[in-house]
Amino acid sequence: MISAKAYAAATARAPLAPVSIARRDPAADEVLIDIHYCGICHTDLHCARDEWGGQPFPCIPGHEVAGVVRAVGSAVTKYQVGDRVGVGCMVDSCGTCPACLAGIEQHCETGTVWTYGAQSAYRPGDPGTGHTLGGYSSAMTVKENFVVRIPDSLPLDRAAPMLCAGITTYSPLRRYGAGPGKRVGVIGLGGLGHMAVKIAHAMGAEVTVITTSPGKAADARALGADKVLVSTDKAHMREGAASLDVIIDTVSAEHDIDMYMQLLRLEGALVLVGLPPEKLKVTAFTLTGARRVFTGSNIGGIGETQEMLDFCAAHGVMADIEMIPATGINAAYDRLSAGDVKYRFVIDSKTLG
Ligand code: NAP
Ligand code: ZN
Repeated sequence: MISAKAYAAATARAPLAPVSIARRDPAADEVLIDIHYCGICHTDLHCARDEWGGQPFPCIPGHEVAGVVRAVGSAVTKYQVGDRVGVGCMVDSCGTCPACLAGIEQHCETGTVWTYGAQSAYRPGDPGTGHTLGGYSSAMTVKENFVVRIPDSLPLDRAAPMLCAGITTYSPLRRYGAGPGKRVGVIGLGGLGHMAVKIAHAMGAEVTVITTSPGKAADARALGADKVLVSTDKAHMREGAASLDVIIDTVSAEHDIDMYMQLLRLEGALVLVGLPPEKLKVTAFTLTGARRVFTGSNIGGIGETQEMLDFCAAHGVMADIEMIPATGINAAYDRLSAGDVKYRFVIDSKTLG
């Protein structure tokens, strides 16, 4: 057993506080990772505050993990001690169902094991809790098949957020053909949104940011946006009507899907990646009138995550971060709730305790 420092929410109403936890010694096919940095995803906040319901506690969030391999199990072939690695939103899946065989382990038919808050049908839960404990911790033990390699040109701190925010936006951008000649919209310039802008721009698409924050317009352009629409300005939104092929919607709260879908051209698609706890409404005519598609996307497979990191390394794409000590996690959550982030908080794991 390996002891590790971590930050946990004891209940949905409790602020996160320091705790000591145990990690298991690596099994034959597992690696033990010394975590150097962990990004703060808005999902962490949804979970730590139990906004979706059903979250097991204590909750140790964190699924944007970057670190270095400390030890490897006897059958590990892909990684060696000292390798720079990352872990994203999942740590296991059945490996044999059609989804796993197709490389979309996040849709495992038997049940994907999420990096935190999941009970595993395949592995024991983390010692002491029975459910998985995430990356707001100094170390974690993970099956090698759910670990990715961080290319040397990506600094670990700026790579960490890519393990969720990067792959969650890269995957639908690829699937919906972002590239030269495609007009891509990104709603919400937060952690996911800023990665979507950088990646879509690197793919060669024309990028429009749709934001509630007029003050983010200059940043949006600096990140790679060609156009910015302020969604609270009705005239501005009318100017953008029927102009986009695909929209990546990263909004974390309730919002007016109909209004945003007016920006789509004939047969354009709005891909929801944001996960507001509230139900979202869409009017039938919004869809039927221009054969528009309203769909969603959930992170991306392990192979695709590696592809995303390699693509970003080749294009010099990485997250824009604000590094915080662990004592700043609760304040960072409050700022995230208020949309005040540029553009991803990252925890320096040395400060966990
Ligand atoms: P974030 O950094 O907080 O960014 C969300 C952005 O949405 C905000 O910065 C803001 O941008 C905009 N926004 C917030 N409230 C809004 C409202 N009421 N109306 C319109 N826009 C609003 O969050 P994140 O970490 O990028 O995560 C975004 C969402 O994606 C969360 O719900 C998270 O749980 C989810 N998520 C999903 C997946 C997946 O696989 N599907 C993976 C990761 C995260 P502006 O100031 O520009 O308007
Ligand atoms: Zn996330």
